[in-house]
Amino acid sequence: MVESNDEIHRLLNAIALKNAYEHSGITNVNTVLSRILSFKPELKSDITTLIKEIKIVVDAVNRLDLGQQKKKLDDVHSVGNTVDSSSKHGITNLHELPKLQLAGTGVITRFPPEPNGYPHIGHAKAVIIDEEYARMYDGKLILRFDDTNPINEKLEYYEAIKQDLEWLGIKPDIIKNTSDDILVLHEYGKKLTRNGDAYVCTCHTDNIHKFRMEQVECPCRRNIDNIDFTLERIDKIFDGTYHQNEAIIRFRGNMQDKNTVMRDPTLFRIIEFPHPLLGEKIKLWPTYDFAAPVEDSLDGVTHALRTKEYELRNILYINILDKLQLRKPIVVEFSRLEFDNMPVSKRKIKQLIDNGQISGWDDPRLLTLLAMRKRGFDPKAIRKFVLSLGLTLAETKPPFEALESMNRKIIDPVTIRLFFVKDPIMLVVDDGKNSKITLSNHPTNDLGTREIEVSNTFYISRDDAILLAEDQEVRLMELYNIKINNIDWENKKVITSSYLNKDLVRNMKKIQWVSDKAMTKYSIVVTKDLYLNDKFNPNSLVTVDGYAESTVLQLKSQTQVQFIRFGFCMTGEKKSSAIFTHR
Ligand code: ATP
Ligand code: MG
Repeated sequence: MVESNDEIHRLLNAIALKNAYEHSGITNVNTVLSRILSFKPELKSDITTLIKEIKIVVDAVNRLDLGQQKKKLDDVHSVGNTVDSSSKHGITNLHELPKLQLAGTGVITRFPPEPNGYPHIGHAKAVIIDEEYARMYDGKLILRFDDTNPINEKLEYYEAIKQDLEWLGIKPDIIKNTSDDILVLHEYGKKLTRNGDAYVCTCHTDNIHKFRMEQVECPCRRNIDNIDFTLERIDKIFDGTYHQNEAIIRFRGNMQDKNTVMRDPTLFRIIEFPHPLLGEKIKLWPTYDFAAPVEDSLDGVTHALRTKEYELRNILYINILDKLQLRKPIVVEFSRLEFDNMPVSKRKIKQLIDNGQISGWDDPRLLTLLAMRKRGFDPKAIRKFVLSLGLTLAETKPPFEALESMNRKIIDPVTIRLFFVKDPIMLVVDDGKNSKITLSNHPTNDLGTREIEVSNTFYISRDDAILLAEDQEVRLMELYNIKINNIDWENKKVITSSYLNKDLVRNMKKIQWVSDKAMTKYSIVVTKDLYLNDKFNPNSLVTVDGYAESTVLQLKSQTQVQFIRFGFCMTGEKKSSAIFTHR
């Protein structure tokens, strides 16, 4: 079984209690069986034991009266949240995470990014949950750079991760690197190999793969009881006699195991490539499978929160700590955050950058924290969104619009509103007068005012223009009402009109405008889905051209504005451009 029996028992108990409580106090083996298998299909591998266990749990639960069941159900809470169907499908209003199992005060969690790229919204989910739990139990959050694969790692990425987490409002109590402990990790590696719980393997990669598939032990493992042979090889791998690809250290697992992870996985490999912090000093590097449990245990982590893709590796995590007689943290799983048509994986993002398909880690189409910041997302919205997802195991893709709507609520009251017209068409008000008007920057909040010079010539969006008809009355927003006289599409694309009055008239169409006395050419970059049908979408970045009121020229770069009837934008480095946030 992938999890310890305790964990399975706890989950069965939670499912049975919930089901009994919802069905007048009675549950049954079949219901519990199908629920648990839908969460943990891998348990099918030992279904007889599982059914026996379920029978015991169901009997015990059915003996309780409703009141007792309710009380126990409240106690289980913890990861029993995973059986709460209300949160299974994405967004709930649950802004509180379920209680952690076996947690007193002083919960220690850790966020372990590899410094091999910029953090994205998936990382935000992980670190926010880690931090929330640390605070909930008055504990500590460790930010630990899992830097044991020097080929992919760079100083730039350590810095980027620190900065972007700071922007997100994360305050780790401890910041450290796995590489700080490399010699300690070597010592534990030696202990494991000397005890015969791991061994040095010099087989060719192809053979290792083949033996794994055929479920047979390799010659290196078969020789493990030959003490002299074994000790000599251990010395050679730790003293640097072996070179890259000549030897690895493998866990002594079980080649018959249905879970291929347990077929003697790699614990250390030789990488002859300078490490960003340690240079060329170290060549023997632990894999994540080895470094994570040992570090978690030594760092005092009480609850190791891991995404569900590690599910099959959890047993290895526990086994390594068992063999080393190290304290075992409680492993808590949650689902990876993913979205349709947007990659939330450093590996995929890197590919897009390397192929020249996107401009870099801050490309506005990405959900890296850097790109999201530049595009106008508020870190508070990201936190709120992550917490609204709860601690589910179900792999659902939440609608991105949910995040947009949370962001909109936060930025709307503090964002100035200006005019932009897309694809402009000239509109002349025959009897329009020259004047200077003062407009307020927000309808309800005091975000200042601005002065705009107007004459009789304006520009409006083509989208609005094509819907106008002769004799129609419309309002130029916050200015006055006009009556359309003539629409000349053929020649000059000019609309002529005449002044009506200033009265606010109910149901009259209102359109935004810019004045030819106070306008500037402006372009707004709008992002579309990065993938279409699983393929890169070459049209995922669209530029919308138009005129903005010249107020925009006074704005600093990275200022949030709302262009009325267009959407929220973040001003760019050039005064004449912005990036679209959302509507
Ligand atoms: P990527 O595929 O983006 O490289 P990763 O898991 O290899 O992801 P790490 O730097 O190892 O990246 O991730 C650090 C932590 O963040 C891990 O604990 C991982 O589980 C978590 N994490 C990464 N991506 C996501 C995601 N999309 N949703 C939730 N958590 C994630
Ligand atoms: Mg990783």
